[in-house]
Amino acid sequence: MINFNVPPCCGDELGYLEQAIKNRKICGDGEFTKKCNQWMENRFSAQKVLLTTSGTTALDMATLLCDFQEGDEVILPSFTFSSTATSAVLGGAKLVFVDIRPDTMNIDETKIEAAITPRTKAIIVVHYAGVACEMDTIMEIAKRYDLKVIEDAAQGVMSSYKGKALGTIGDFGCYSFHETKNYSMGEGGALLINNPLYNERAEILREKGTNRAKFFRGQVDKYTWVDFGDSYLPSELNAAYLWAQLQRADEINGNRLCSWNAYWNAFSPLQDAGKVTLPTVPEGCVHNAHMFYLKCKSLEERTALISYLKERGVMAVFHYIPLHSAPAGLKYGRFHGDDVYTTADSDRLVRLPLYYGLTEEDRNTVIKAVCSFYA
Ligand SMILES: *Cc1c(COP(=O)(O)O)cnc(C)c1O
Repeated sequence: MINFNVPPCCGDELGYLEQAIKNRKICGDGEFTKKCNQWMENRFSAQKVLLTTSGTTALDMATLLCDFQEGDEVILPSFTFSSTATSAVLGGAKLVFVDIRPDTMNIDETKIEAAITPRTKAIIVVHYAGVACEMDTIMEIAKRYDLKVIEDAAQGVMSSYKGKALGTIGDFGCYSFHETKNYSMGEGGALLINNPLYNERAEILREKGTNRAKFFRGQVDKYTWVDFGDSYLPSELNAAYLWAQLQRADEINGNRLCSWNAYWNAFSPLQDAGKVTLPTVPEGCVHNAHMFYLKCKSLEERTALISYLKERGVMAVFHYIPLHSAPAGLKYGRFHGDDVYTTADSDRLVRLPLYYGLTEEDRNTVIKAVCSFYA
């Protein structure tokens, strides 16, 4: 069986885990956490990076730092994971879903402005499959209406838009290091803060409402409870695992891109023949091969393809059920404008096996199976 995903492991993970244990420091913010934060700050030219317990809690931190008030609204796509929405709900905001564009499955930037009301406070964009949203347009709208922008870049680590790393363009960026993502620590994530005004509040929020971070830097002589907070620090054990991955980030990225490109080349003739639709990577976007998907003609065809592949030992999977049609989506949000692509295109999308270390042989099995389905 060719799995849809295999969690990444580069070989140095055990050694770093052992080192973390020997350091006698396994709670948060030790050597490995600091190394990971600094690596990301340098590599992505990020003002500040804080490891978190998940991509979801990074999003939670971002929405809490936005300080929404009762009745405030947040604009976001419906074609996304529940975390994008549930973080805004935690922050106290109402959800306003807008349609996606079919070429990238990202929020349609041309439909955002019409969804803005006097209560709109933020836009949460999702860089689906590690391909950037049209950020110049989105940032220009946000500036004009004085809105915060949160980038759900859970899938976008190592991707960029016009030379800027995803996660560093809006006010906040959120990464995920879940085992299904390109770089992993089991469960984990990171918050990228692009405006230094939020640094201190973020540290307090992450450290149970205390000014402990300031205390460790020697800026106060004892630490105390100063504000609302929660616990968002991952263990050093998780950070040690991630450190091994970050050190091999280019190797992992290159390996994934190689598989992605092979799929692309193999399925281009199917697209030319009008049988499937392949993803688009717009000009100026550099992607990280987080995902390879194709779109079938219909839901029925997709169901048939998935079971055909399964019979041949290939695990292919569909993706999100649009949030606006889910029970919690109905409760917390509304869809603005027409749902032209969100439901129709999510029904047709299928993801193929893609992970660090996928062998050429397995990749060819996937390619052959898809091609024979369409032959
Ligand atoms: C994976 C993912 C998340 C959640 O990340 P976790 O680390 O699993 O909490 C949020 N948004 C998107 C778009 C994701 O793909």
